[in-house]
Amino acid sequence: MKKTISASLVNMFHVCQRELWLHANHINMEQTSDLVYEGKLIGEESYPQRTKNFREVDLGIAKIDFYDYKNKVVHETKKSDKLEHAHIAQVKYYLYLLENAGVESPTAILEYPTARKTHKIKALTPQDRQEIENWLSEIELILEQETCPALVKKRYCKTCSYFDLCYVGVFEED
Ligand code: SF4
Repeated sequence: MKKTISASLVNMFHVCQRELWLHANHINMEQTSDLVYEGKLIGEESYPQRTKNFREVDLGIAKIDFYDYKNKVVHETKKSDKLEHAHIAQVKYYLYLLENAGVESPTAILEYPTARKTHKIKALTPQDRQEIENWLSEIELILEQETCPALVKKRYCKTCSYFDLCYVGVFEED
């Protein structure tokens, strides 16, 4: 099962377990794929040289839009830094998968062009690898649940693609 856990699921695990379960059970809303596309588009528009110099890498369960193969650096562009902890987890998972594929000590740069901010992610340590394995085990447990985890109100809900599904008629404004 662990082999099929995608980078998107790792990201969602750090945002909302309910979202993770819904997505993994193929209850998808349009906006999810739109956001993925949007991130790639922002990357291309903010860094026009990128498409020429960097490669797209498809790891099966994760697709890296911009990989600097000469320097072994993953470039991940996000629209907003509001969920930075989840972005870091997603990118660390990319590094984990690259290492598993035989790349030695890759690193990453998270880019937030709108906020003019970058965040460098160092090569994984043994502790990082252990932490990622723990995430994967926890994600497996959530995915094995027959029913969707309970709704936990979060600020993020207002922009989540599952907002209507989770909150229609029950959401109260802060
Ligand atoms: S709307 Fe909120 S509770 Fe529902 S899936 Fe999204 S983040 Fe989770």
